[in-house]
Amino acid sequence: MNSFNNADRQMFDATCSKCGNETQVPFQPSGDRPVYCNDCFREMRGQQTGGAGRPMGDRQMFDAVCATCGAPTQVPFQPSEGRPVYCREHYKRDRM
Ligand SMILES: [Zn+2]
Ligand SMILES: [Zn+2]
Repeated sequence: MNSFNNADRQMFDATCSKCGNETQVPFQPSGDRPVYCNDCFREMRGQQTGGAGRPMGDRQMFDAVCATCGAPTQVPFQPSEGRPVYCREHYKRDRM
């Protein structure tokens, strides 16, 4: 559907080094470098940048008070008036 956009870009046939699917890459595959299809490429980049399971130790935390139980807690954003803030326990429960 978007072949229109790629019209002036030369693509080379290649075989994905990970899943073996045929794919096309915008550079000449040299043979000694792995080539990945779009799916595998995206998957690998997603794993590298991560996100889940990253420790929150270097994040700035702000003091706040839980709107449900009144316990002091810390949140990773500046609490603003009129917006309820929850302690870890009630935040989790609120999302479920
Ligand atoms: Zn692949
Ligand atoms: Zn609470």
